[in-house]
Amino acid sequence: MKLLEGKTAVITGAARGIGSAIALKYASEGANIAVTDLVINEVAEALIKDLEAMGVKAKAYVSDASKYGQTEEVVKQIMEDFGQIDILVNNAGITKDTLLMRMSEDQWDAVITVNLKSVFNFTKAVQPVMLKQRSGSIINMSSVVGVSGNAGQSNYSASKAGMIGFTKSISKEVGSRGIRCNAIAPGFIETEMTAKLPEDVKKVWVQQIPLRRGGSPEDVANTALFLASDLSSYVTGQVVHVCGGMNT
Ligand code: NAD
Repeated sequence: MKLLEGKTAVITGAARGIGSAIALKYASEGANIAVTDLVINEVAEALIKDLEAMGVKAKAYVSDASKYGQTEEVVKQIMEDFGQIDILVNNAGITKDTLLMRMSEDQWDAVITVNLKSVFNFTKAVQPVMLKQRSGSIINMSSVVGVSGNAGQSNYSASKAGMIGFTKSISKEVGSRGIRCNAIAPGFIETEMTAKLPEDVKKVWVQQIPLRRGGSPEDVANTALFLASDLSSYVTGQVVHVCGGMNT
């Protein structure tokens, strides 16, 4: 029996990168997949075809996770299409890095709204479904810099730290109803988000990693599988660092 047989997962910002790797990992363990993203392009359409080829049901939805109204609508549509939601991965995220002295109000607001408010939006919209089912696993994609802080990322670090506080609070609110809520704190993971960093900055990052390499999206997906499945049935309110041992 596969680890997620018969389950349905909603993964935000899953058209590429870490979200897309999680979708493939979950599908390989039998889960049906609802992908949401700002834009569903040919890459996302190819992902859906790959997921279907693995024998699961998969659908992509255009939805801005930072907008509560759109989130309510898309969750309603996903329930009509799939009939259940067992796993929610709040993965959508952006960076707008700069030192605070140069940071505009727009750069602050955009990162907090997309990274943190989106977690409120999706968790609130999905929670009634999970409460009714009396089961569910919510996984919030935080970051090591939400724990350690990072110069030039005060907006991003604040949003990721906020996700950790949210995760711990929700785990306490809904644990008695069979719903678990955990966070993953990835370190330096090689995706389009980190591809835009200059080579010399990347080299410095890698020097700080005891395992001496950036992580892959699959490294994060493996932890997301553990947290979604019954393998972690006694784990809630936790932050799992997937960072090659980077100091936090
Ligand atoms: P990515 O940029 O490759 O993918 C992010 C996805 O989120 C994109 O498909 C994008 O379109 C989508 N998205 C952005 N804004 C959205 C919105 N408003 N609504 C819906 N979708 C939206 O990034 P990634 O590296 O795959 O990162 C995924 C998550 O992991 C993010 O939350 C990121 O902060 C976190 N993370 C990444 C790293 C890393 O090193 N790559 C490290 C720590 C944490």
